[in-house]
Amino acid sequence: MDETWEALSDLFFPPVCYYCKSPLDSRGGRKLCPRCRELLKLVEAPYCLGCSKTNVILDEETLLCPDCQIRSKRAPLSRVIAGAAYEGLVLHLISKFKYGRCRYLADPLTDIIMAHPEFNILAPHIACLVPVPMHWTRKIIRGFNQSEDLAYELSRRTKIPVVPALKRVRYHSSQAGLKRDERMRNLGGAFQFDKRYSKRFKNLPKSKLVAIIDDVCTTGTTAELCARQLKRNGAKNIILLCAAKT
Ligand SMILES: [Zn+2]
Ligand SMILES: [Zn+2]
Repeated sequence: MDETWEALSDLFFPPVCYYCKSPLDSRGGRKLCPRCRELLKLVEAPYCLGCSKTNVILDEETLLCPDCQIRSKRAPLSRVIAGAAYEGLVLHLISKFKYGRCRYLADPLTDIIMAHPEFNILAPHIACLVPVPMHWTRKIIRGFNQSEDLAYELSRRTKIPVVPALKRVRYHSSQAGLKRDERMRNLGGAFQFDKRYSKRFKNLPKSKLVAIIDDVCTTGTTAELCARQLKRNGAKNIILLCAAKT
């Protein structure tokens, strides 16, 4: 039945590239065409083991960039796994996804997250996906939370459950253009842990990862504050999975 449906839908809506709209010869829905895929600056080794940045000088021993070397070992977020650099086509896809309300773009953006060289190694150890929450008034304005859409798409493909354990309790002004410490201040007290999920995190073995999901990581402040809340409530090893890193 699925196949018939797919064939029918291909007949009426021939699959085209998400970006350049050129026809695709493969069946099974829309994708980025090979030419556009090449335009993505996907993360490839060598990259920083802390933040996934590629155009940085890495310490030979730790394979960390200077910023990540300074960051405390006790920082609540242990790693940032970003599929691509936040530029060019990825930047375009993300802004169309968020501000152009093109929710179908969760699909290629999830491809980008999963394209990270270590994704398949980490995935079996991830216990749950926690989307970065959006304040309910903003969600009404935008109509959806992009991090949630990415988390559910990733969950659909990997079968890792989504656990919406965080709430955004303060509606704050936009973070864009603010420096790291200004962001921290702007965001202070913005996230709250939903106590209904306490047991779930407290019972997790140390070897299991909790993955926060977001579209972009800029300074990392948002993810760090989310991680702090999760850690306070029992999560031990927390990473961030995102499509792009600035
Ligand atoms: Zn294309
Ligand atoms: Zn780094």
